Amino acid sequence: MDKRQGLKQELRKRGYKLTRQRKTILEVLSSSGNIPMTARDIFERVTRLSPGMNFSTVYRNIEILLQENIITRVELHGDAAYYELSEDGKHHHHLVCKGCGNIQAIEYCPLNIPFEKEGFIPVDHRFEVYGYCRNCVDENKQIGLG
Ligand SMILES: [Zn+2]
Ligand SMILES: [Zn+2]
Repeated sequence: MDKRQGLKQELRKRGYKLTRQRKTILEVLSSSGNIPMTARDIFERVTRLSPGMNFSTVYRNIEILLQENIITRVELHGDAAYYELSEDGKHHHHLVCKGCGNIQAIEYCPLNIPFEKEGFIPVDHRFEVYGYCRNCVDENKQIGLG
């Protein structure tokens, strides 16, 4: 079962009605392959697939999908908001390139804290690493900076 089918099933299970607009947004996000997108990115791709939607409609639908926990908000590059599909029971983190802005997902989670000992129940955490991607490193090598 691919991710998209799984998502549709999950929505049906929750008795969630998917409007055409929301479906298009989810399609755009699922085709990005774990790469978070800004509302602007989503809007641009959505209007390509289904012209005539305005930014505030897309934004409102993003908010609804967020509330339903179908998509997740990630803050990257300081405080810019990016969105991606929520993953049931698992999660990933991001590597952010300071050179070209490229974002890649990593399955690795560094969280290894004995919360029980602290009497604390974690519900959410963030972890992003900023640096330079392979392309940017290679480019610098080529022009002799690396
Ligand atoms: Zn880069
Ligand atoms: Zn984690």
